[in-house]
Order: sequence, then C-alpha cells, then structure tokens
Amino acid sequence: MSADGVRGSYRNTTQRAVILAEVEAAEGHLTAGEIFERVRRRYPTIAYGTVYRTLHLLAEHDLIQELTFADQASRFDKRTERHDHVLCTRCGVLGDVEVPVALLAEHVAQEQSGFTVTSHHTVFNGLCPACKEALEREEAEERMSAAAAQNR
Ligand SMILES: [Zn+2]
Ligand SMILES: [Zn+2]
Repeated sequence: MSADGVRGSYRNTTQRAVILAEVEAAEGHLTAGEIFERVRRRYPTIAYGTVYRTLHLLAEHDLIQELTFADQASRFDKRTERHDHVLCTRCGVLGDVEVPVALLAEHVAQEQSGFTVTSHHTVFNGLCPACKEALEREEAEERMSAAAAQNR
C-alpha cells in the first residue's frame, strides 16, 4: 500500500470516530445537517457529503440508528436497540419512549399480514409540554385582547 493510501485510511478512521463521538455526545436525535455543523466546529474542512456518507455507514454497522420519517430529514440516534419516539409537530423535538405493548403490536401486525416483520418503529406525533404551554399562553393572550377590544 502506498504511503498516501495509509494516510487516507487513517484519516477516514479518525473522521468516523469524530462523527460517531458527536452522535454519542448529542442529547437528542440530530439530523445529518446538525451533526455536520457540530463536526465542522472542530474540523472546518470536512465536507457535508463525508459526514452524510459516514452516518449511513455507521448506521449500516449498527453503531448508531437511523430514524427515517416520510417527509422529513432522517435523525440519528446513539441508541441502537429498538425503542419508540414522540415527535413534537410544532418544534420538531424528538424524544424516546418505552412502550410495553410494542412487541405485542409487532406480533399482531405479523398475524394480520403474514409478513415476517424484521423491524418496527412507532412515532407518536403531538405537542411537547413546552409547546403546549406556549400555545395555551398564546390562546389566553388572544382571548384577553379580544375581551379588551370588546370592552373598549
Ligand atoms: Zn415542541
Ligand atoms: Zn431514540
């Protein structure tokens, strides 16, 4: 192998470790774009394509988990074991939930379809507590200004 090849693979290993460390250090579930922004703080020359490809490679090797959403960017999860998520439709925050009936759901799906189910993932959409509170505050303010307008 040429000296260049050795240096090249060494660099790839380092990049992989840096990107993996960034996913593991994250408190939540980041998109490729968010992980790229974090990695770039330490490695300003790194390309988005490198981060994107590496994330998929890490997911293929089960070092991280890729969560896919129909119409949104994938999120990357440091937890690789099966678990479900809550997604806030207002701010996009994604949290972990442990649903005890998850395995039963898989069994029912299998029975009804005849499929051999290899994986499943449930996303519960709704409002996070912070957004619910903000929304209620906004509604209360609207009611108050409407009442004030009437009393004028
Ligand atoms: Zn929210
Ligand atoms: Zn998760």
